[in-house]
Amino acid sequence: ITDVTNTKELEKLRAADRLKTDFIATVSHELRTPLTAIKAYTETILADPESMDKDTLTGFLQIVYKESLHLESLLDELLDFAKLEQKAMVLEKSKFDLTELIMQVIQSMSEFARSKKVKLQCVKSKPIYIVADQKRIRQVLINLISNGIKYSKEEASEKYVKLSAETHQDSVIISVADNGIGIEKQHQNKIFEKFFRADSVFDYRTEGTGLGLAISKEIVELHGGQIWFESKPHEGTVFYVKIPQGE
Ligand code: ADP
Repeated sequence: ITDVTNTKELEKLRAADRLKTDFIATVSHELRTPLTAIKAYTETILADPESMDKDTLTGFLQIVYKESLHLESLLDELLDFAKLEQKAMVLEKSKFDLTELIMQVIQSMSEFARSKKVKLQCVKSKPIYIVADQKRIRQVLINLISNGIKYSKEEASEKYVKLSAETHQDSVIISVADNGIGIEKQHQNKIFEKFFRADSVFDYRTEGTGLGLAISKEIVELHGGQIWFESKPHEGTVFYVKIPQGE
């Protein structure tokens, strides 16, 4: 007699193991890309520093710096993921203006948006004061905006990511809308799972670990809020984040 329960358990363990192996492969690849650039540019500089004119040198160092920032954010994401697994993420709350934060984040992402020819817009609104962990809310916004930019349609002409925030009773609802590739029906219930990346994103050769939304969901839920989305494949996606204004 075969023990069905055990077989199922074993299958589950195997599946979890596969996910982890895939994840390690993805992460190693993600880490290698910026590292390769840093190595190559520093090697070029070191080979003959005297012969380099100042502009070329500055240009190279700017690339090295940008790639180090990318490495840093990948490592931060891994650490956050470890915290999420250990249920060890702690919020540091303070009162701040969410509208102001949104403007700052849009400013900081404008370069990335420009490089992908995506218009980053914000529906103007008045100050909205909330009590929350500003750093963590910033992280959620950056994740949603960068996904909106990453998963835009390569060939489309009027690409956008639009943000808005409005109060609703004692909460604030933030929306991040894009007219990108959208999410296929069969993937829609998986995108908040750790490690999950839709097959279509591999065709688009976008970078990512499949952790961003899992981390964002944890952050939003720690605030007593909710995160959800509406998406039409090939048309676009709108993510919503609802969090209590607090105090
Ligand atoms: P990553 O972007 O690193 O792959 P995320 O957890 O942020 O990981 O997202 C998980 C998956 O959800 C993505 O790989 C992609 O398939 C899908 N996804 C997320 N945001 C969008 C979006 N705005 N448009 C289309 N697909 C999206």
